[in-house]
Amino acid sequence: LSEKLDKALHVLKGHGSITEVNVAETLKEVRRALLDADVNFKIAKEFTNTVKEKALGQNVLTSLQPGQLMVKLVKDELTELMGGDAEGLNLSGTPSIILMSGLQGSGKTTFSGKLANFLKNKKTKKPLLVACDVYRPAAVDQLHVVGDQINVEVYSDKGNTDPVAIAKAGIAHAKANGHNVVIIDTAGRLAVDEAMMTEIANIRDAIQPQETLFVVDAMTGQDAVNTAKAFNDVLNFDGVILTKLDGDTRGGAAISIKSVVNKPIKFIGTGEKMEAIDVFYPSRMADRILGMGDVVSLVERAQEQFDEDEARKLQKKIAKNQFGFDDFLKQIQQIKKMGNMKDLMGMIPGAGKMMKDIDIDDDAFKGIEAIIHSMTLQERTNPSIINASRKKRIGKGSGTSVQEVNQLLKQFDQMSKMMKMMQGGKGKAMMQAMQG
Ligand code: GDP
Ligand code: MG
Repeated sequence: LSEKLDKALHVLKGHGSITEVNVAETLKEVRRALLDADVNFKIAKEFTNTVKEKALGQNVLTSLQPGQLMVKLVKDELTELMGGDAEGLNLSGTPSIILMSGLQGSGKTTFSGKLANFLKNKKTKKPLLVACDVYRPAAVDQLHVVGDQINVEVYSDKGNTDPVAIAKAGIAHAKANGHNVVIIDTAGRLAVDEAMMTEIANIRDAIQPQETLFVVDAMTGQDAVNTAKAFNDVLNFDGVILTKLDGDTRGGAAISIKSVVNKPIKFIGTGEKMEAIDVFYPSRMADRILGMGDVVSLVERAQEQFDEDEARKLQKKIAKNQFGFDDFLKQIQQIKKMGNMKDLMGMIPGAGKMMKDIDIDDDAFKGIEAIIHSMTLQERTNPSIINASRKKRIGKGSGTSVQEVNQLLKQFDQMSKMMKMMQGGKGKAMMQAMQG
């Protein structure tokens, strides 16, 4: 999914101006990409329609950076679609009871352990795991293995075939032993069937959990949506756990499930280990789906800090070869306002890797600023007049050496040339990203 979206957004990202045709083309690509990721047809269509409306409403076409505005719109809308803000667990109740539901193999037992570990690490929580999968003796053993790994007690009753009775006994055990969270692991089947639904509904009704969670394998695509719907129809669950989102698994399932059942996704599982659990953040998932690093927040920050007119003027100056030290100084000040240089470079896809070995020190600007301040107005606008005696004077005035002044002049010269080059071709997108 991310590759296709990348391609679609690339068209927009790279261009300073887009036409209505471009917008329609891009949204068509976005829609195709969503469909490929098993997002329901109706949802994908609704999504692109919303983005289109917003794009027109915000006058994307006449804005200075239409491509970036579109990227931002797509990302914001995707985030909204997946639930906006992250939602936590309801841990009221003494003890708070969390019931797991889902198909066999979805990751219930593993996630029960991860969640117990996650809560245990919060210090104020003392979880108890309860083994209610009565069909496979190995399932009870599996939960004990998990419990041992994370040092969390497991309540089980081998031989007892009534999951409702075990769940109740487990809760009583928790109360008697000072556990303030009870996590109940249940049995699943390979496919949705009535017996399983009846059983999980019976457990739920008997113990009245604060949280009934539906665990689903993110790799199962459109099937995940159907399963989610079937479980939600019976259980009206409180939240979704999306497992197996490690490696290359795309987040397509997150979009569809959220849209179809309208329940928050609360956690994701990203591996088999007990630590592989993350709170679900819709905006991060949108980034992952869009596969564009943190480029959106870079754009946002840049937009906050740069005055659009200023950027336009600057571009004209560069084009006319009139970029001088005063403009350079302004640029430095802008960059400093935006925050740490390294962070900023890391947000540009690809640049992060490139910059890894180069140490950018924010203090590095200090010397540069001092040197520029020691130049006369004439020297700033026309650096070519800076001869040996001027260099000496500037060095003295700024408390730097002639070598340092030389170095800056050389760097400035190179930069001016580079900027000129960036005016056309490949570097344009990056320049725009830096200028907002
Ligand atoms: P259950 O039948 O619902 O209890 O599922 P299990 O917890 O037994 O998990 C089924 C399989 O999926 C096991 O092999 C787990 O190790 C694996 N698994 C569970 N969660 C994840 C995950 O987030 N990532 C990966 N890669 N594997 C997982
Ligand atoms: Mg299990």
